[in-house]
Amino acid sequence: MDHVFYPWSAQAELAPITVKGGSGAWFWDDAGNRYLDFSSQFVNLNLGHQHPDLVAAIVDQAHTLATISPTVANDKRSRLAQLIVERSPGDLNRVFFTTGGAEAVEHAVRLAKQHTGRTKMLAAYRSYHGGTGVAIGLTGEPRRWDAEPTNVDVVRFFGPYLYRSPWGASTLEAECAAALSHLEQVIELEGPQNIAGLILESVTGTNGVLVPPPGYLAGVRELCTRHGIVYIADEVMVGFGRVGEWFGINAFGVAPDLITFAKGVNSGYVPLGGVVMSERIAERFDHRVYPGGLTYAGHPLACAVGVATIEVFERDAILDHVRTVGAEVLGAGLARLADKHSSVGEVRGGGFFWAVELVRNPDTREALIPFAATGTAAAPMAAVVRESKRRGLWPFVAANRLQMAPPLITTADEIRTGLDILDGVLDVADSYMDR
Ligand code: PLP
Repeated sequence: MDHVFYPWSAQAELAPITVKGGSGAWFWDDAGNRYLDFSSQFVNLNLGHQHPDLVAAIVDQAHTLATISPTVANDKRSRLAQLIVERSPGDLNRVFFTTGGAEAVEHAVRLAKQHTGRTKMLAAYRSYHGGTGVAIGLTGEPRRWDAEPTNVDVVRFFGPYLYRSPWGASTLEAECAAALSHLEQVIELEGPQNIAGLILESVTGTNGVLVPPPGYLAGVRELCTRHGIVYIADEVMVGFGRVGEWFGINAFGVAPDLITFAKGVNSGYVPLGGVVMSERIAERFDHRVYPGGLTYAGHPLACAVGVATIEVFERDAILDHVRTVGAEVLGAGLARLADKHSSVGEVRGGGFFWAVELVRNPDTREALIPFAATGTAAAPMAAVVRESKRRGLWPFVAANRLQMAPPLITTADEIRTGLDILDGVLDVADSYMDR
């Protein structure tokens, strides 16, 4: 433990638990503490810990062919690509494999630049796109700040966020219209002929579980089409069932030009990610070399787990489970907690992905901690998180929000157990309310 340098952390302030094992929605440490995993680790463990079918897929594939170059065909890789395109919207028809989400974003941007011959990228404030060069540069939140200047020519825009509307809108319709008009102006003022691509999380994940209002993504699609801008839907966090759809964008009836995916494609049992692309973009490289590749891309062990993942989703009707239990148990239960606890400013989300936004004052909507707070300024949130872990609920925490992202196999009873724990945890948040 002492020789590991941990990500996104001040090393001396970190005291990680040592995880010994896990099963389904639970994991436990070497001190005997059991945690109900409401984070799916990094929102990747969609089929839960130690799923027997996924473990078996790795073992079988290891016995057959443990690794192979990305430039030859492999049955599991080909099969997974087919299964993915069959579940993708529009004419998306080809998959470029990577080993994770940030690499998928790097290559989506490269494809957009190559396809258009343009250089600028549009990306949203309140977004996360990954920790590598281009991906961190596109990211619209504090994790980018210390990495600046970054090596991507990026222009940022505001997406819709009714609870903290940049335009003071008070209805979803007004928020949607204002956000689209703002984006249209950004495009005009930047010169559409210079803009290669626009990247947008279909449901913004880490930065607040922001579900776009009806019509917003269709409006983004229309603007991109009108100006020849490649529309990249970043589905790394919400793809593969998180919001009850294969891809989050499928709920909005919109087809982007590129989709980036990772995480839920195989629950991260073996690192995997990729870009699904339209035939139009793929064809551009029919007789021209695509300038990019990765030694371990589309690793057979990872693809074998991906194939098994999709088979489990179909066999066990995972999407139905997420839609039903997500709305009737998780969403409904969180709404009840919001009524009971005045520190809950807003509950929003869908499927197995919800944000509980904590405030000091529900009238002014002042956040429980200031934006990008650290140290003592962040103490109230740290106390809430400590209490959650003490009670055995492992939360996904971002800024002033507890975000609920349990594995998609979590049962209705386990969700109720988590909600009961959360009820007690929210008493701690309530204790910080302005009186
Ligand atoms: N894009 C989104 C929307 C993400 O949520 C993440 C990770 O959380 C990434 C990209 C980066 O993925 P990875 O951590 O696999 O590189």
